[in-house]
Amino acid sequence: MITAKARAIDGPDKPFRFAEIKRRELDSDDVLIEIKYAGICHSDIHTAHGDWGPVNYPLVPGHEISGIVTAVGPDVTKYEIGDRVGVGCMVDSCGECENCRKGEEQYCLKGNIPTYAGVDKYGEPTQGGYSTHIVVTEGFVVRIPDNIGLDVAAPLLCAGITTYSPLNHWNAGPGKKVAVVGMGGLGHIAVMIAHAMGAEVTVLSQTLNKKDDGRQFGADHYYATSDPKTFEKLAGTFDLIINTVSAKIDINVYFSLLVLDGTLVNVGAPADHLSVNVFSLIGHRRSFAGSMIGGIRETQEMLNFCSEHTIVPKIEVISADQIDEAYERVLASDVKYRFVIDTSTI
Ligand code: NAP
Ligand code: ZN
Repeated sequence: MITAKARAIDGPDKPFRFAEIKRRELDSDDVLIEIKYAGICHSDIHTAHGDWGPVNYPLVPGHEISGIVTAVGPDVTKYEIGDRVGVGCMVDSCGECENCRKGEEQYCLKGNIPTYAGVDKYGEPTQGGYSTHIVVTEGFVVRIPDNIGLDVAAPLLCAGITTYSPLNHWNAGPGKKVAVVGMGGLGHIAVMIAHAMGAEVTVLSQTLNKKDDGRQFGADHYYATSDPKTFEKLAGTFDLIINTVSAKIDINVYFSLLVLDGTLVNVGAPADHLSVNVFSLIGHRRSFAGSMIGGIRETQEMLNFCSEHTIVPKIEVISADQIDEAYERVLASDVKYRFVIDTSTI
């Protein structure tokens, strides 16, 4: 077994603490990664706080992982020691089902193995990126292009792919009007990617406080959802809306902003169910969809896209001692725009 240093949480109301965790010895197709940075995704908070149901503690969250390969199993072909790599929200899947064969491992029919709060192929609990090392099968490791720093690469591994995938799937591009609801970790990267894809991008944020940042990220328009006039003005405007909000909102008012045949894709995953008034959909043949991260091939495609278009998430690097404070700030929508843990401080 390999020992890694980590930060773990013991219950919904507990603070993070130092922990030593075990990583498995390398299988023949495994890669050992020295983690350099780990982003803090709102999903880490939902999971750590039990929002989505009971979890086993102690829990080491973190599924936005960037680092350096420090050892490889004998059958590894894609990576060598010294390579700059990333790991996102999953570390394995069955590899055989229809969805895995399509490269949509996140929708594995037997269930993908999440990077943390899951159970690996040996029946051991998976533990995530708030740690110094991780062992992952090479098929679930991606390469970080040279022109993307490891610190800013971390958020791309979840926030990047979670927004790239639906923007790609629903054809965001020239001539398309795209709105992004919520400009936090996912939202700010969604703006950058949709802009780079050539879409006309609108941010729908609670207030206008972050308007200047939004324009810098590539938004053409920026509106406050706290102003009822926003919904009158933008009625029937968007081909595609990506909702990244982490809390329960009245989703029906957002359906009214779609054009005929427009789609609202929910990537936000609040603890409470959203309630849908079907009349706000059937009137204009509108669609309400969901989307979960993206497959491994698409994750690599997203990283290459961000490299080509110089997409750089805006991050605040923190030490491991600041995780609790960072959680508080994310919950208060006080994040600009992703906290990233420097794992050398663990
Ligand atoms: P985040 O950084 O906290 O951003 C969420 C944003 O939503 C906030 O910055 C805020 O934006 C807005 N917001 C928060 N509370 C709100 C409220 N009560 N009413 C209206 N707007 C509110 O979170 P994140 O890391 O981007 O994650 C967002 C959600 O996506 C989470 O639920 C997370 O679990 C989920 N997620 C899903 C997937 C997937 O595969 N589908 C992957 C990753 C994350 P403004 O200040 O601009 O209003
Ligand atoms: Zn995430």
